[in-house]
Amino acid sequence: HAKREGRNTVRFFSRDVHEQVRETLTLTRELRWAVEREQLVLHYQPQVDARTQQLVGVEALVRWQHPEHGLLSPARFIGLAEQAGLIQDIGTWVLREALRQLASWRDQGLPVVPVAVNLSAAQFAHPGLVELLRQMLQQFHLPPEWLELELTESVAMQNSDNTIAVMASLKRLGVKLSIDDFGTGYSSLSYLRRFAIDKLKIDRSFVVGLSHDAQDEAIITGVINLARSLGLHILAEGVETPAQQAVLCRHGCDVLQGYLFGRPMAAEHIAQLLAHPPVAAIAA
Ligand code: C2E
Ligand code: MG
Ligand code: MG
Ligand code: MG
Repeated sequence: HAKREGRNTVRFFSRDVHEQVRETLTLTRELRWAVEREQLVLHYQPQVDARTQQLVGVEALVRWQHPEHGLLSPARFIGLAEQAGLIQDIGTWVLREALRQLASWRDQGLPVVPVAVNLSAAQFAHPGLVELLRQMLQQFHLPPEWLELELTESVAMQNSDNTIAVMASLKRLGVKLSIDDFGTGYSSLSYLRRFAIDKLKIDRSFVVGLSHDAQDEAIITGVINLARSLGLHILAEGVETPAQQAVLCRHGCDVLQGYLFGRPMAAEHIAQLLAHPPVAAIAA
């Protein structure tokens, strides 16, 4: 019995893997058409002032409205896009759509907030990036400081001539730069000195344990103090509970983002938030 079961298990396992590979190939093939077929959509997650809970920014997060599989999260397809050389097209679409949306809110007379956009390493390395951004900002008549680019530590810590030059050009252009998932990448902090970074986004993994894990709180305190002494803004990602919010506020974190304040949502919902800010429960 055991033998038969074992054999079946192996066969089942290999068929499973085979199916996964096929699914990945199919998904990649379909992804090539996703931009053209207008299947990508941006959701926006609120970023709020830690003290007043006022909306101070939104992060654009891409989704794929797949005809059969429904709304796919970026975890399902950004990696595929990077491997298949599709990330330039998708990334350019994301940038243009985020700026178009921001200009549209502005044109509706809404009091807009800056939009943050995630950038893949390959986009950052592309020689046309700065010019592309300059043209897009001009096309929509947007001030550059309304756009914030989120880079990961692995991008920022590269010490190549190209990285240094691109960082300087982005700075001259006037867009804001933030480090995403701070604390999960490389431990070298020298890039913080080398580049004109505006903001650190503390990764969710450090926020999760706040209020019961003394080590997480020590890390958060350290990062906030580091950011403050370097003159950087500091945002905490993945805030889900009032207890986490309280600890972050107590230690002087500037901006909070997480399900407690809003999930990533469709642009229409952000428009409503901009038009009718919820009355914040201002504590003392
Ligand atoms: P990220 O940039 O760190 O974005 C934050 C992620 O955490 C989002 O997942 C968001 O929905 C999720 N999140 C926010 N608050 C909470 C919370 O309170 N609890 C929990 N459990 N999760 C929270 P999402 O939208 O699935 O995006 C995942 C990642 O995909 C992003 O991480 C980013 O690295 C990447 N990504 C998303 N959009 C783009 C894009 O347009 N271009 C590129 N290159 N990457 C993107
Ligand atoms: Mg991000
Ligand atoms: Mg992040
Ligand atoms: Mg993250």
